[in-house]
Amino acid sequence: MPERARVGFVGLGIMGLPMARNALKAGFAVTATNRTLARAEPLKAEGATVVATPKEVAERSDIVVTMVTSSPDVEAVTFGPNGIAEGARTGLLAIDMSTISPLATRAFADRAREKGFRTLDAPVSGGEIGAIEARLAIMIGGEADDVARAMPLLQTLGKTIVHIGDHGAGQACKLANQIAVAINNLGVSEALVFAAAQGIDLEKTRQVIAGGAGSSWAMQNYAPKMLAGDFKPGFMIDLQQKDLRLVLDAAYADHVPLPGTSLAHALYTALQKDGGGGEGNLALIKAIERLSGIEARVR
Ligand code: NAP
Repeated sequence: MPERARVGFVGLGIMGLPMARNALKAGFAVTATNRTLARAEPLKAEGATVVATPKEVAERSDIVVTMVTSSPDVEAVTFGPNGIAEGARTGLLAIDMSTISPLATRAFADRAREKGFRTLDAPVSGGEIGAIEARLAIMIGGEADDVARAMPLLQTLGKTIVHIGDHGAGQACKLANQIAVAINNLGVSEALVFAAAQGIDLEKTRQVIAGGAGSSWAMQNYAPKMLAGDFKPGFMIDLQQKDLRLVLDAAYADHVPLPGTSLAHALYTALQKDGGGGEGNLALIKAIERLSGIEARVR
């Protein structure tokens, strides 16, 4: 293997594009593809090699990152026609950084092992801004020697990088993270709508809460956008719902009631029903606003 791993990226969406860009900026040779190839154009202009299929990415890479949507999508780009498995030579390391089912992740690890390549699950948290600024939290499942191999690349993508355990442990941790994300969002939404109902200055309220015990990532990053009525994604409600579904299915299987998560999921379902699934997950405040008819906006 060359001194510096050649890196591939499959999936150049909201997260994948800035992540690939950061690997490129850090000096890795990057080969990338995207289902909609036009989305790869900016990366080509910045020095990446753009190819048509995940198979070609694998042929040119030592490590391949997948950043697609859900379990069937990871399966398609990894094991489907023209997928990574078709181009992988022995020892290739496929790191899936999408958020998918821990069970599916373990099954993919077994299938990859049979075909002679290695896998890690390394889902992320920190949003689009975390991807752009290379400040992602990365939670890893898999074997320690593969984690060591991945580390120089992962360090160009994130700041908090933790090897949680064996295959699937990264995804299980990410689902726990999504519980906290959804319920924090709900807390911020209720706090701001209540403040609006009280008629107090919303910007001052946000500022002081963000400096105290009521603070959270959502209060710091999402509340300003909620108050400005800026609901473009970030992290789409449809994707948040995919994650909460994974959480609730896994919790049900383990007989663990999650009342807060169930409530957040139901409120997001109401937003999806009204056609809001493509908005950012911070649009949860709209569901709370509709219950009272009070909007929390600074205009
Ligand atoms: P996104 O903007 O919708 O990007 C998804 C990417 O996956 C697109 O490049 C899409 O290709 C590709 N894709 C989906 N299904 C595919 C398939 N079957 N075959 C080939 N390519 C496929 O989503 P994102 O926000 O970047 O999220 C990506 C993953 O990261 C998700 O698992 C999400 O849950 C997770 N995540 C997101 C955030 C966030 O804040 N956005 C934060 C943490 C984790 P096209 O361009 O052709 O559609």
